[in-house]
Amino acid sequence: MPAIAHIGVGLAAKRVAPSINVGWLILAAEFIEVIFMILWAAGIETIPTNETGSYSPWSHSVVMGVFWALLATSFVFWISKNARTVLLMGLLVFSHPLLDIIASPKTAFYAADTGMPLFFNPAVTLGLGLWRYETVAFVGEYGFVLAGLLIYLIERRKIKRDLPV
Ligand SMILES: [Zn+2]
Repeated sequence: MPAIAHIGVGLAAKRVAPSINVGWLILAAEFIEVIFMILWAAGIETIPTNETGSYSPWSHSVVMGVFWALLATSFVFWISKNARTVLLMGLLVFSHPLLDIIASPKTAFYAADTGMPLFFNPAVTLGLGLWRYETVAFVGEYGFVLAGLLIYLIERRKIKRDLPV
């Protein structure tokens, strides 16, 4: 099950943002997946398969990634006004396309994947292709989640310990 690595990023962010609810941190890291699901429900994007690869330029292109991160950043600014929170949430949203660039083409999961589209041209893609290798892909996805969970749990213990009794 790909794309769970982002959850680990959200969990780990608790380390630098102990005052923000972890649900918001995970939502920010997976914001682009939420966009994808809305677009999928609307019939605009399709679930990646072995045959089609994972071309979803509205949610998962580099340029649109910048757009969604800016949109989310503006929204957070509107409700928070805290510069640190705004920056962190924007970075979390943008960590999604960044990770996808490192991982794509994710041929270990979708044989026909050609990489992360730059914009709306399937022929122009970016990607370091780490997820071409099945072992790297699986260790990477689960490793990110486990590492993130560990960081989160350590951080939560620290917060509890520091609470005035
Ligand atoms: Zn994604």
